[in-house]
Amino acid sequence: MHPQGTGSPARPDAESRQDSGIPSHRLSEGVMSGDARPKGPFVERRRHRGAAQAWHDALEPVHRLLAEYEEANHFLAEAEESYRGLFENALIGIFRLNPEGEPLLVNPAMASICGYESPEEMLAAIFNFGELIFVDSNRWSDFVGPLQAGGVHSGFEAEICDRRGERKWIELNVRPTFDGDKTLYYEGTAEDITERKRSEDRIRLLAYYDRVTGLPRRSLFEERLSEALSVACWNSQRVALLLLELDRFKMLNDSLGKEFGDGLLKEVAERIRTAVGEEATVARLGGAEFGIILPDVKAAREVEQFAAEVVAGVAGKFSLLGHSLNISCTMGISIYPIHGRDGQMLLERADVAMVSARETGSNGFQLFTEEMNNGIRERLRLENDLRLALDRDELYLVYQPQVDIRTGDVSGLEALLRWRHPAMGIVPPGEFIGIAESSGLIVPIGEWVLRTACTQAKKWQQDGLRPVPIAVNVSAIQFRQQGFCELVRCILEQTGLDPKYLELELTEGLLLTNLDVMLILVKELRAMGVKLAIDDFGTGYSSLGYLRQFKVNRLKIDRSFVSDVSVNADDAAITSAIINMAKALNLEVLAEGVENVEQLDFLRGQNCYEIQGYYFSKPVAVEQIAAQLQGRFLR
Ligand code: C2E
Ligand code: CA
Ligand code: CA
Repeated sequence: MHPQGTGSPARPDAESRQDSGIPSHRLSEGVMSGDARPKGPFVERRRHRGAAQAWHDALEPVHRLLAEYEEANHFLAEAEESYRGLFENALIGIFRLNPEGEPLLVNPAMASICGYESPEEMLAAIFNFGELIFVDSNRWSDFVGPLQAGGVHSGFEAEICDRRGERKWIELNVRPTFDGDKTLYYEGTAEDITERKRSEDRIRLLAYYDRVTGLPRRSLFEERLSEALSVACWNSQRVALLLLELDRFKMLNDSLGKEFGDGLLKEVAERIRTAVGEEATVARLGGAEFGIILPDVKAAREVEQFAAEVVAGVAGKFSLLGHSLNISCTMGISIYPIHGRDGQMLLERADVAMVSARETGSNGFQLFTEEMNNGIRERLRLENDLRLALDRDELYLVYQPQVDIRTGDVSGLEALLRWRHPAMGIVPPGEFIGIAESSGLIVPIGEWVLRTACTQAKKWQQDGLRPVPIAVNVSAIQFRQQGFCELVRCILEQTGLDPKYLELELTEGLLLTNLDVMLILVKELRAMGVKLAIDDFGTGYSSLGYLRQFKVNRLKIDRSFVSDVSVNADDAAITSAIINMAKALNLEVLAEGVENVEQLDFLRGQNCYEIQGYYFSKPVAVEQIAAQLQGRFLR
C-alpha cells in the first residue's frame, strides 16, 4: 500500500492520540468501518504533517492488525490453557474415540478409571475401547449402536474390567460428532460409579433377600410370580402357587428365643429347597411363611403330589440349642389361571386354602375351592366384629357348676365365655375362640375374662354366699404371654379374691411344648396359691410322666371319654385308668360332660365324685348362681 498524500487516512501520533483522549481500541473501530477520518478540529491539525508522518500513518492499519492478532493469540493461548487445565484436572473422565472405538484423546481421570498411569500409557495400549474394557461384549454393541445411528447416550452404565483386572462400573455420557454425513468422533465423559453400584446392590440385597434364610423376600417373589404368569399366559400353561407355613412357629420363637427361631427357619428353608428341586422358586414371605412357584403344571393331581412331598420333606425332628422337637407345616395352594389371573388373587386364594388346611389339621395341604372362600370371608368378618366386641360390651360370662356327688354341693364354678353378636345373636366360644387365638385378640379378651370372673367370685363371697373356687380357661397364647403371672397376681390383688379360689384350666399341649419354661410358670402360680387344672385330659399328648413334674391340682377327664363310658368298653377303660392314675398321683379328678345317670353311676363306681355336666346344670347366667350355691344337687 502506498501513501496517498492528504487523501490517505489520517493517523494521529501517539501524542495526539493521547491528547485526543480517545482510547486506542476505540480508534481501531474506524479501520473496521472503513471510515477512520476524524472529524472537526482534529482534521484541521493533520493537514500540517510531513511525508514521513504520512508513511507512518499509512502503515498504521497493519500495525493495528498485528497487535490485534497478537492479542487474539494471547486470548486463544489463555483459553487453551484454561481448557487444558479443565481437561487435565477434571475428576471426571473425558475422551474422544474414533468410530472404530479407538481412543484418540483421554484425560488423566479417564486413564485412571481404566487403570492406566497416564493418558499416554492408555493411548498406547488400547486400540479398541469397547472390546478391551467392557465386561459384557453385548454392552459394547448397545453402546455403539445408537451412536452410529446419530443418537446420544446419557447415563449409559456398563461394567468394565480395568487394566489391572479390577471390575468397575462406569457411567458414560457420549455424543457423536459429524463432518457432513460422516461420523468423526464419539466424545464424552465417563464417571466411576462403582461405589454407587455397590450400595445399590447392597440395598437390593437387603430389599430382595431375607437375611436369615438367604431366600428371596416377598418383593422379589411377587416379581418372579408375575414373570411366571406372563410366561404361562404366553404359552397357555398352568402355574401353581403354594404357600407353606411352619406350624407353631410364633409360639416356639416366643418361648425358645430368637436364636432358636432363626435356626429353625434356616433349616426349614433348606428342607423346602431340597424338596422342591430346581424347577420351583422358593421365597420367605414373612414370619414362618414361605412361597413356592411351580411353573408349567399339568394337573391338580400333580400339584397335590408335589405338595405332599414338600410337606413330608419339611416334617421331622429338629434339634437346636438343647431343644429337640418335631416340626410340621401346612400348605395352601392356588393354580393359575383356574383360581386367579393375577398374582394378588392367587396369593389371597392360596392363603384362604392354607387357613382352611390349618383348621382341618396340621401337616396337610389344601387346594383352593370357592366354598372355602365364603367360609374365610365369614371368618374375617367375625374377626373384625370380635375386635369391637370388648369395647361394645358384647362379651359376658356364664357359669357352670361342678358338683360333689357325695354331698350334692356345688364344689366349684367354671366361667365360660359368651358373645352376644349384634346381628348373629349368641355366638358359642367354639366359633370364636379360635379366631381370637389366631388374631391375638385372645390376650385382651382373656384378661377381661380373668378380671370379670375374679370380680364376680369376690362379689358372691361379699354377698355372703358359700365361697367356692372359680375355674377360668386359659388359652396357650395367653399363658405364654410375657408377664402372665404378674397379670394374675395383679388381678387377684385388685379384686381382693383369695388365690385359693381361683383355678386356671390349662391344656396338656400347652404345658408340654416348652417344658422348662412351663415348669417355672406353673411353680410360680402354685407358689402364689392359685390352683391349676388340666382340661380335656386324655385328648392331648397323654404322656403321663409329666404329671409328676407339674404340681397341678386336678385333672378334668375330657367329655369325649365320659360320653361313651356306658356303651364303649375302651372309653370306660380309659376313664377308669385316668381316675386310678390321678388317685395314685394324689390328684383330684373331675369328669366333664356328664349328661345321664348311666354315666354318673359308672363314675361313682370308679370313685370319681366331682362331676360337671348337663345332667346337673348347663352353664347359667350370673343371676342363677346364688340359688345353685345355696341349694343342693340331689337325685
Ligand atoms: P371346655 O373348657 O371343655 O368347657 C366345657 C364345655 O363343655 C362348655 O362348652 C360347656 O358348655 C360344655 N359342656 C358342659 N357340660 C356338658 C355336657 O354335659 N354335655 C355337653 N355336650 N357339653 C357340655 P362351651 O361353653 O361352648 O365352651 C367350649 C370351649 O370354649 C371350652 O371348652 C373352652 O375350651 C373354650 N372356652 C370357653 N370359655 C373360654 C374362655 O373364657 N377362655 C378360653 N381361652 N376358652 C374358653
Ligand atoms: Ca374348661
Ligand atoms: Ca374341657
